[in-house]
Amino acid sequence: MHAMVLEAPGTPLKPVTRDTPQPGPGEVLVKVVACGVCRTDLHVVDGDLSDAKLPIVPGHEIVGHVHAIGDGVERFAIGERVGIPWLGHTCGRCHYCRSDQENLCDAPGFTGYQIDGGYADYALADARYSFPLPPDYSDAEVAPLLCAGLIGHRALKMAGEGTHLGLYGFGAAAHIVAQVARHQGRKVYAFTRPGDKAAQDFARSLGAVWAGGSDEPAPHALDAAVIFAPVGALVPAALRATRKGGIVVCGGIHMTDIPAFPYGILWGERSVRSVANLTRGDAAEFLELAPTVPVHVHVETFALSAANEALARLRDGRLTGAAVLLPDQAG
Ligand SMILES: [Zn+2]
Ligand SMILES: [Zn+2]
Repeated sequence: MHAMVLEAPGTPLKPVTRDTPQPGPGEVLVKVVACGVCRTDLHVVDGDLSDAKLPIVPGHEIVGHVHAIGDGVERFAIGERVGIPWLGHTCGRCHYCRSDQENLCDAPGFTGYQIDGGYADYALADARYSFPLPPDYSDAEVAPLLCAGLIGHRALKMAGEGTHLGLYGFGAAAHIVAQVARHQGRKVYAFTRPGDKAAQDFARSLGAVWAGGSDEPAPHALDAAVIFAPVGALVPAALRATRKGGIVVCGGIHMTDIPAFPYGILWGERSVRSVANLTRGDAAEFLELAPTVPVHVHVETFALSAANEALARLRDGRLTGAAVLLPDQAG
């Protein structure tokens, strides 16, 4: 099979040919038909996250058809379309696993980070952490739901019930969250890279009541803000835009350092919190919710061999919506 492999952080992915793996007990082998490109992949490739198993095949928004099944798997049938997300394994024994917070497991395995992921023709996964996918979506469209959608959903829940919602960074996750939030009757304010008119137009096309640069003041005090851009300086900016009692949620796995800020912008019972990973419950909940909104997913597709180009476009903010690799698309 073909795979794009990271050998050392900070170097481009390398195309390799390797033996197709066989499923062990409890595992499924899927023929990958689409794999989304998430900002977390970029953090792995760039070395911002340091726990990668190397060499590693990135990719944790995997859509595949079950090709082979290991012993003991009764959940899926050959040919069935399944999704494989970031949460690839948990220990099942730690405090967090036993208290319904498996996203915080002390000994997790993440897809495309410690477990080879979906930038490949085939991928192996623990069947217990894989999901049937709603038939309403094409392979390419459903892929970004598996992380941008799931993490976005979790972040939106953490943001509370407030009406006036700010989204900082309008990429794959925000474009999904904006649609869900609007469906819930909220008002979405989109903060993009200063001067990024294309992203601002995109946000307005998805129902944002306001879109502007992250250096511009919000036109209305926010009840909550979710920060998807990996920029620590946005934390004090979002706090300044948020009303007393408001919540600022950091939705990414990595952020540059948060600069010092005056206590006065946190005062008034504002809170700042992060969102880490996902639970299988989040996945079941969101994959059921998405078609009812319905969430429309905007994708730009790339051949598997063009993974480095897709990552470069994401790094530079030159994407509208989500990038998705299609192993069967000609390079
Ligand atoms: Zn655990
Ligand atoms: Zn992700």
